[in-house]
Formats: sequence, structure tokens, C-alpha cells
Amino acid sequence: VAERPAASLVEHRRGRVRWLASGLLESAGVRHGFTTRAGGASRGAFAGLNFSSREGDLPERVRENWRRIESAAGLPPHSWALLSQVHGARVEVVAAGAAACHHRRGHAEADAMVTGRPGVVLGVLTADCLPVVIAVPGAGAVGIAHAGWRGTVQGVGAAAVRELCALAGASPRDLVAALGPAIGACCYQVGEEVRAAFRARWGARAVARVFTGRGPWSLDLQEANRLQLLGAGLRERSIESVPLCTACRRDLFYSYRRDGRRSGRMLTFCTTADGG
Ligand SMILES: [Zn+2]
Repeated sequence: VAERPAASLVEHRRGRVRWLASGLLESAGVRHGFTTRAGGASRGAFAGLNFSSREGDLPERVRENWRRIESAAGLPPHSWALLSQVHGARVEVVAAGAAACHHRRGHAEADAMVTGRPGVVLGVLTADCLPVVIAVPGAGAVGIAHAGWRGTVQGVGAAAVRELCALAGASPRDLVAALGPAIGACCYQVGEEVRAAFRARWGARAVARVFTGRGPWSLDLQEANRLQLLGAGLRERSIESVPLCTACRRDLFYSYRRDGRRSGRMLTFCTTADGG
């Protein structure tokens, strides 16, 4: 059994805004982050640093939250590439960024993006689903995926790896990956139809590794995506998971499972832009 690296979570703080990062990716020079609720302008059900107004938050507060993370993390404005996330496995190749957009209309329908264009910031929004950041260190090529159970079973992470390798002329063994905060197996009970979907596409052995219980089943989304990245050719030591459950940590994260429809969204970003 190959050894798994100890997670090296990094916490960034600028004023009241706090975001997390993978120590593994930072030491490889990959600029990225996973936001927390801390330091946001939103109130009520959306209290904190919420990046979507589609669930009912006030657009001006959400715009202010985008401004705050750009300022705190030193991200260039008008450089964002965002998606209309649809729980599939399509990967968008991004050529240019634009101003941050709080409502997520008019974006490409996809659940992953890759880019080799300097200065572009890729962003996905989540509230339990798993954000996956991948990069080719030193090559100025990054990718990001949004993986709920549907995207995971369809292989969105592996699809992003293939596109990034094609774009950068890299091998999967050159890539590093971080699996961000997501709902943990502790809180993610799913029905038989979810397990059946995995069994049909992944086989019984993989199912035994990512589901526990006897119906309802508990799904370990991070482990499912870690196995998928290993299957795509990444090295074990090049993958790091942030060991925090979005549903358990109300203080840090929004959770759709815990809070229902009126809940905020965290932002995961990664960028080819130079540090600012
Ligand atoms: Zn939990």
C-alpha cells in the first residue's frame, strides 16, 4: 500500500476574509484557494462570503463578496472564467477571462475547465460538491472541476486531467491535484440508485471502497475522486485532500444538504496569474 501524504492545509487571512489552500499545490507554485464564509458581506441565510445570487441573496452583496476575494487574494479583476454547472463531465478549454458574474447565466455549460492562458482565473462554485484543482507545475497550465456524485460517476475529474495534459503536452504523472472541502461520508447518505450508478460504471471493487453502510449508503466523494485521479495516471503523492466536511463545519462552509435551497456558495479558484 503506497503511503498517503499528510494533508498540509494552509490558511490565508487578509482582513476578515479567510480562505484555505493545499500546501502541496502551494509548494508546487500553483495559485489557488478554497473560500470560507469568513469576511463576507451577505446576511441571514446567506451570512458570509457567498458567491451566488441565484438562490436569493442580494446581488449587490454578492458583487461585494467577489470584490473582496479579488482584493484579498490579489486576483486580477476581469479575468474570471466561470461555468454554468450542470453535473456532467464536459470540459471547457478557456481562452480568456471576464468580469466576475454573480448570477451564473450566460456561461458555458460544463463542469470543468482548463487553461494555459496567462492571467486567467478559473472559478467553480460549490456547497457540498467537491471542487478539484489540477495543475502542471511550472507550465502555466491549470484546471478545475466541480464533482458532485453525478459528475464523479461520469468521470469529470479524469476528463479534466486528459484535457489539461493535451493542452500542456504533459503526462498525468506531472500533475498535482487538490481535493477541496466537500460533504464528507459522515454526512452524505445516498440512496440505492446512486450506488447502482457507480456499480454500473465503476464495478463492484470501486464501489466497496467509496460506499459504507447498508442502505442508506454513505458516499465518500473525496475518496471516489482520489481513486479516479489515480486511475487517470496521477501519482499518489501528488494528490492532497482538504479534510473538512462542509456539512459538519457550519462555521466555515455553506452546505446544501444541511441548509436546503436557500444556502450560499463557496468559490474555488485557481489561476495562471502571477502573485499580486
Ligand atoms: Zn460531516
